[in-house]
Amino acid sequence: MTTDTESLDPFVAELRRWVDNEVLPVVDELEHSNTFPDKLVEAMRDLGVFELMIPKEYGGLGANYVTYTGVVEELSRGWMSLGGILNTHVIVSHMISKFGTEDQKQRYLPQMAKVERRGALTITEPNTGSDVQAIETSAVLKGDEYVINGSKLYVSNGRRGKIFALLAKTDREIDPRHRGISCFLVQPDFPGFNIVREIEKLGYKGIEACELHLDNLRVPVENLLGGVEGRGFVHAMSGLEVGRLNVASRAVGVARAAFEDAIRYAQQRETFGQQIAQHQAIQLKLGEMGTDIQAARLLTRWAAGQKDVKDRSDMEVGMAKLFATEVAGRAALESMRIHGGIGYTKEMRVERYYRDVPFMMVGEGTNEIQKTVIARNLLDRYRID
Ligand SMILES: Cc1cc2nc3c(=O)[nH]c(=O)nc-3n(C[C@H](O)[C@H](O)[C@H](O)COP(=O)(O)OP(=O)(O)OC[C@H]3O[C@@H](n4cnc5c(N)ncnc54)[C@H](O)[C@@H]3O)c2cc1C
Repeated sequence: MTTDTESLDPFVAELRRWVDNEVLPVVDELEHSNTFPDKLVEAMRDLGVFELMIPKEYGGLGANYVTYTGVVEELSRGWMSLGGILNTHVIVSHMISKFGTEDQKQRYLPQMAKVERRGALTITEPNTGSDVQAIETSAVLKGDEYVINGSKLYVSNGRRGKIFALLAKTDREIDPRHRGISCFLVQPDFPGFNIVREIEKLGYKGIEACELHLDNLRVPVENLLGGVEGRGFVHAMSGLEVGRLNVASRAVGVARAAFEDAIRYAQQRETFGQQIAQHQAIQLKLGEMGTDIQAARLLTRWAAGQKDVKDRSDMEVGMAKLFATEVAGRAALESMRIHGGIGYTKEMRVERYYRDVPFMMVGEGTNEIQKTVIARNLLDRYRID
């Protein structure tokens, strides 16, 4: 299941080696000191990870989503936070590539490919997360600038991001509500952009989640994504699909790390005169974990393949995100049980996996929301008159 190096994409195979040699030796120190991994991020840049999904004509590698899922799985097997540092960069570059004006693509994508600007996405607000259409941040056109006011919460990469895809309401009265939402490309050096705090978290260490206050933030009119008002909801939903592929892949990576630690430990630890791996109770766990993880990986690769050929794949990507993150939750807990008491201590990595996985069930659209999205798609497909 995890030794199929020869069948891997060469890019993914290289990352696997890099994670083994460069990430695993330093991850515990970075995690427990909650340190941003500057050197690893530089190395990821040199390996081409940040430019992977940017189209070739704008300086990127133009890879497909199947390769992307392999890359994110490998990074997250080392440390889930690395997958998160990459995530919003890929989401924002996708939104610009797909919906941006030619001027916006020329201005931002080459800089993003060179990692001179890392991307961040800011939708969530103090009063709303799942219900994106209820955002309260407002944008009013004054001359050749939009003036934006509001607050944004949990902005991943919020302190180090250099280009933010930010949702705001340009029309509060319109029905349906989503047509009143627009997306803006915001630089942190625009006047009125304030980072007010970093929010402490259970896990997902190293990477910052910020609160932003936008106090008469001034955004030039040419930074309205795509140059048209009222399309921001569509832009964000397309971006979130890419984000959900990232989260599904991250979950496969964390689940695999939990499994690999467990199967190694099960052959080292002895009780009642034999390896615990020889107890049927432990074998049942290992068998289920191995099967679950392979199913999650295949579902994620399939969803990525659908995203490669279709404009929208809400259902497929939602299924992968839902399933893979729940698998990761079970894998982290089962791995902890297999480790016994030491699994609950900071001497083993499994406590990190256990702290990291709940975020993936909530972030990028909660798993409850994924179920409703999947069901709506199924109801459409199975509609009876
Ligand atoms: C560490 C971290 C990083 C994040 N990074 C970002 C980021 O970079 N950018 C960004 O914009 N956001 C980010 N988020 C926000 C995240 O996407 C939201 O927290 C998430 O979408 C849920 O929104 P909420 O917290 O407002 O929960 P709510 O929407 O208030 O939901 C609360 C509960 O109600 C359930 N629920 C709500 N509506 C329904 C419904 N219709 N049907 C069934 N159940 C429902 C939810 O599933 C959940 O269980 C981040 C969050 C965290 C914790």
